[in-house]
Amino acid sequence: MNAPLSPPIPSIPPLPEGARKPRVLILGAGMSGLLMGIQLKRAGIEDFSIFEKREEVGGTWRENRYPGLACDVPAHYYTYSFEPNPEWHHRFARGPEIQNYMRHIADKYDLRRHIVFGEEAADARFDGRRWQVKMKSGREDSGEFLVSACGFLHHPREPQIPGLEHFAGKRFHSARWDMSVDLKGKRIGLIGTGSTGAQIVSAVSKLPCELNVFQRTPQWVFPLPDREYPLAERELLKRFPIIARTAYKFFDQSFDHVLARAMIEPGWQRRMVEALCQWNLDRVKDPLLRRHLTPDYQPMCKRIIMSWDFYPAMQRPSVKLVVDGIERVEEQGIRTVDGKLHPLDVLVLATGFNTHEYLRPLELTNAQGLTLSQAWGERGPHAYYSLAIPGFPNFFLLGGPHSPLANGSVIRYTEALVGYVMQCIGHYGEGRFNTLAPRQDATDAFYDSLRESMQGTVWVSGCQNWYIGKDGLPEVWPRRPREFNEALRRPRLEAFELN
Ligand code: NAP
Repeated sequence: MNAPLSPPIPSIPPLPEGARKPRVLILGAGMSGLLMGIQLKRAGIEDFSIFEKREEVGGTWRENRYPGLACDVPAHYYTYSFEPNPEWHHRFARGPEIQNYMRHIADKYDLRRHIVFGEEAADARFDGRRWQVKMKSGREDSGEFLVSACGFLHHPREPQIPGLEHFAGKRFHSARWDMSVDLKGKRIGLIGTGSTGAQIVSAVSKLPCELNVFQRTPQWVFPLPDREYPLAERELLKRFPIIARTAYKFFDQSFDHVLARAMIEPGWQRRMVEALCQWNLDRVKDPLLRRHLTPDYQPMCKRIIMSWDFYPAMQRPSVKLVVDGIERVEEQGIRTVDGKLHPLDVLVLATGFNTHEYLRPLELTNAQGLTLSQAWGERGPHAYYSLAIPGFPNFFLLGGPHSPLANGSVIRYTEALVGYVMQCIGHYGEGRFNTLAPRQDATDAFYDSLRESMQGTVWVSGCQNWYIGKDGLPEVWPRRPREFNEALRRPRLEAFELN
């Protein structure tokens, strides 16, 4: 019998009377930066600032504007555990709705007066006691703690395709959608069939236009139907918040017991996901199209696409799948290796992100002059339990390498991360240290255990995916998400160097 899931965040008690209260600098006003602010306030710490490079909160949900933008994690689970939202209109919330939720959070928790909009950190140095941060504008600030809440899907990846710059039509990355372009009646080229590309296909295929989908690698698609929540149901959720809380727990359990297990170990869960993906693929009637859409690797090795609509969309007459490789982009369109020119008016690059950059190009420098780029140089990004880096005291990274980011609710595990950071700050308040940084040997031991656990996971079953780090180790959590949350329930101070 499995133990019940632990609550995501240990309750944050206010710091006791007379405790030291540090100044905390937070980078990014997305979902994790806002959560960090909420928990600092709950602990009675008001001396913090959240620096946000844009003019509004919301992170990825503010940046992305593409047609079909939605979250493929169920809305009642993609929610702060302490802030259920009876207003979700669909099982999979649309992007603007999620951004509204973030705005509501910023207002409700009185976070806006802590947010400095339009400021992007350019340089951060630790002087032995405090982080000195310089913004691009020249503004400077300092604090005892620095928390990066920048996310990892924010550096659009431009593909290295010859001639891209010569395209005469409109061209943009999915995360920089050009809202001024009317797609109706246009010949659109879409490069990329990941989670973003699949959502764009589902939406754009319904418009009166021609859509050419340039696929390099087919993806597995899990059939998860969307559903609109009617007014009566939303009213019911308003009156009985327990329903939304129960839904949250249901999705949490289901993810932990089924999808997460399917990814990390062989068993009935994996077989079931594979069978459902195959069943979904079999909904493609034309044998040639089905063959072209059939991946040659195991489901979930690449981040699995959750969509009921993708295959029906691919079968619409206005959609053409191009599987011949791209040779180059020309003024008039895309030339494939078979010599054919595909004439286009608009070119959309749904080609993903430079996911291993994390907070960079912001450079961190420690008191000994070592930079983060140097520390991560040969081995690539690594961090103790994804959130703290040896040699960089009083710095925390939310959503760093090896957190459980594959197909789960990022909000769920961020609550565990922020709970951990808050407890470290609590220990600082009690005077147990001035600075803390994870020990190298504790970090190495963490990595040895990660490497061992990676055997048997789908991510090492043989495919190209953006999880794979420089050292060949996928930057995901190879065990059940509940084990991640459990591991973060209490900081083990003996794993840190304290000064
Ligand atoms: P992605 O998963 O990295 O997919 C990029 C796509 O572009 C792939 O199909 C890739 O092909 C293709 N591509 C890249 N360079 C290419 C080139 N030079 N020529 C041809 N094709 C090229 O990126 P994404 O779809 O933007 O998704 C990134 C992440 O964002 C997701 O994994 C997910 O974490 C997040 N996301 C989440 C949601 C959500 O609903 N929660 C929605 C969208 C995105 P190959 O496969 O051959 O490399």
